[in-house]
Amino acid sequence: MDKLHEALNLYWNSKSFRPLQKEVISNYLMAKDTVVLMPTGGGKSICYQLPALLSDGLTLVISPLISLMQDQVDQLNQRGIKSMFFESNRGENDIDRQFENARNGGFKLIYSSPERLVNRSFLEQLKNLNIVGIAVDEAHCVSEWGHDFRPSFMAIKNLREVFPKVAFMALTATATPEVLEDIKGGLGLEHPQVFRNSFERSNIHYRVGHVEDKMGEIKKILSDPKESVIIYCRSRSKTELMSQQLKRWGYKASYYHGGLEGSLKKQRLVDWKAETTPIMVATSAFGMGIDKSNVRKVIHLMMPESMEAYYQETGRAGRDGIDSTAILLVHPSDKTRLNHQFLSHLPNSSFIKRFFEKLTTTLNIAYGEGAGEEFKVNLKDFCDRYNFHPKKTLECLKILDREGVLELQQAYETQTYVKIVSSASVASQRAENVDDAARILQFLMRNYQEVFRKEKKINLGQIVDLVGISFEEILKKLEGLKKENIVDFQHYNTDLKLYWKVPREDQYTLNPFLKRIKAHHQQKADKIGFMIDYAFDNSECKRNKILRYFGEKKSDLCKQCSARSCRKEETVDLDLPSEIKILLQRDPLNAYQIGIQIGVSNEFIVIALQEMIEENIIGLNELNQFYLK
Ligand SMILES: [Zn+2]
Repeated sequence: MDKLHEALNLYWNSKSFRPLQKEVISNYLMAKDTVVLMPTGGGKSICYQLPALLSDGLTLVISPLISLMQDQVDQLNQRGIKSMFFESNRGENDIDRQFENARNGGFKLIYSSPERLVNRSFLEQLKNLNIVGIAVDEAHCVSEWGHDFRPSFMAIKNLREVFPKVAFMALTATATPEVLEDIKGGLGLEHPQVFRNSFERSNIHYRVGHVEDKMGEIKKILSDPKESVIIYCRSRSKTELMSQQLKRWGYKASYYHGGLEGSLKKQRLVDWKAETTPIMVATSAFGMGIDKSNVRKVIHLMMPESMEAYYQETGRAGRDGIDSTAILLVHPSDKTRLNHQFLSHLPNSSFIKRFFEKLTTTLNIAYGEGAGEEFKVNLKDFCDRYNFHPKKTLECLKILDREGVLELQQAYETQTYVKIVSSASVASQRAENVDDAARILQFLMRNYQEVFRKEKKINLGQIVDLVGISFEEILKKLEGLKKENIVDFQHYNTDLKLYWKVPREDQYTLNPFLKRIKAHHQQKADKIGFMIDYAFDNSECKRNKILRYFGEKKSDLCKQCSARSCRKEETVDLDLPSEIKILLQRDPLNAYQIGIQIGVSNEFIVIALQEMIEENIIGLNELNQFYLK
């Protein structure tokens, strides 16, 4: 066994490399700049982790998100590969200690955020480490064309001066041609060898269904109740409602979103993997670390805001190589809804300035301070205070996150505060009624004695157990009690944690990116435009459309997607008129019934029926049914 396979076997417990991994590793071990374009799940990280393991020195990994770094470092240490990451600005002494640790700790990999590389003294200290490899994860962040541009990635180029002889490896799962060029230029790579795994997933059948009634369609799609399925919804409440509906229909389903408690998330994932609840209804929060090979269908009730996101989510289907389907359900109104949802709340630069001022005031961050500190913000409170639109505000925070000013972490704590505002006697009287609202009121009066005097934080979970209705329904009942002037209540589920990365210097912090805002908005609109095109243009093969987006050209057709180009072939095999004749020998049927029985989409049936009428083979009765003449 060669050294590479030996290491793979020993540390990853695997006998063989996935496609391209070995070629990438061999190239990089010859100290050549290397670019790796692999779809998510293709096994990117081994490409730099294994060479790091084999070399005599440290490999520096640049990664954009603190949470991701932490995950990776934990995983590596569990495999027995010593790794650490530079924790963010905590003062000079602490940095010195971390460098001391890096020098003497016997590490193989050391992670850092790109923001640190702006700092000259940090770079100087890096110089003293025996760095023999540099890997840039999520390298598309250096590109303004990417969906995730982070200006701090520009600073990575500084490493080239400090380590002129160390080869770079840049890795990404986004590979449009523009992004690739930006990666090469933006990171200062020298004649890099580009390794590209095709983005084609040949066992996934891409389908777009244009339907009036999405729920009804779902019922048709879920033909086999044992099949493993993910249904993606846009909102948390929708996941809950949808899973309830599926259960009523007899399916084994559960739901998952970012607002669930950690232990509950884990349990739901376990149940799904064990096929106890093979159907998972989820928001896009259901993604990280999902490794289930037999997902047969990934259904989207609403299009995501970019092809990158759609590709990633549909990519969870058919990891075992068996035929699987990615279905996007669209309604004619989705076009407007999507545009509204993603484009109408984009803040302009004067709003961002005002927002930044109010935010730093609220958080009490003085000029020149804030770096390395963590803050909690209640989005609703903040928006109420300044009369800001929550979506627009969240968008501002995302921009600051992307621009490297802060890291936005959603804490996902739901909090409900209730106060009884009526007199005790009115409340008691109301609580004697026989309805859910009364039972909620009884619960409040029994468990929260102070609820008459002040707002009390209440535990909705207990009410769910006691009254036996869902969160959503409880909130509705509380809303009802509010209208009756019995209670007042506030419900928040959008608490945010902000990790501030740079000192507050208003001009310096804001000006560089305010210039980019317009271009960024345009880019967002283009991405949504492409998704709308994917959903509503039915002429181009869906697979080819996706591959074209990622810079791959295909001249043949997939013949298994729902585009017109690929469906026509289907009907050539079938002699539709004779099939229809056989059917109509029994009973007259309408076009829809005929379509279902033959299993061919309506547009072909309609064409065939028209021809048959013209040829006087069939006729149409007053019930809109076709009969044989
Ligand atoms: Zn096709």
